[in-house]
Amino acid sequence: MATKSHEKSLKDLFVHALKDIYYAENAIVKALPKVIEKAKHEHLKNALTAHLEETRGHVGRLEDVFGELSLKPTSVRCEAIEGILKEGEEILSDFGASPAGDAGIIFACQAVEHYEINRYGTLVAWAKELKLAAVGKMLKATLDEEYMADDKLTKLAESSENREGIVRSAAHAA
Ligand code: FE
Ligand code: ZN
Ligand code: FE
Repeated sequence: MATKSHEKSLKDLFVHALKDIYYAENAIVKALPKVIEKAKHEHLKNALTAHLEETRGHVGRLEDVFGELSLKPTSVRCEAIEGILKEGEEILSDFGASPAGDAGIIFACQAVEHYEINRYGTLVAWAKELKLAAVGKMLKATLDEEYMADDKLTKLAESSENREGIVRSAAHAA
């Protein structure tokens, strides 16, 4: 039976957030191959391919977290990631073939990473609060990988090739 709203605890919210990020990670696994296909710069393609593999690991790690809590892995639709991914699709279709395509991909992918950093950051804090040390450690491992993925994208965005791509596209527009 569903718990009445006023009876819900931080633990309930924690489990809800786990189901939410489980939905999101699965949605990201589905969305990334199309993005990788459109990426032009080899380093960007490689970074996204590596992060797709890591993201599959995040799904598996969440399944382990559910197991640790004696719960079956289930998801609740996350409107936030749906919106972020939908925006990314729009950027891909509007700019994917343009010289600014890679800049657009980095723009869209960093929105995803920042969303994940926000969610895992909160989950790690709540796991600590709830004294779920083992679970907290697992979530922290994913959080660290999201930080690294975001950092890699920032470095690619600041690389000369990407900047030249943006300059070229601005020159076309002029
Ligand atoms: Fe992830
Ligand atoms: Zn959500
Ligand atoms: Fe990620």
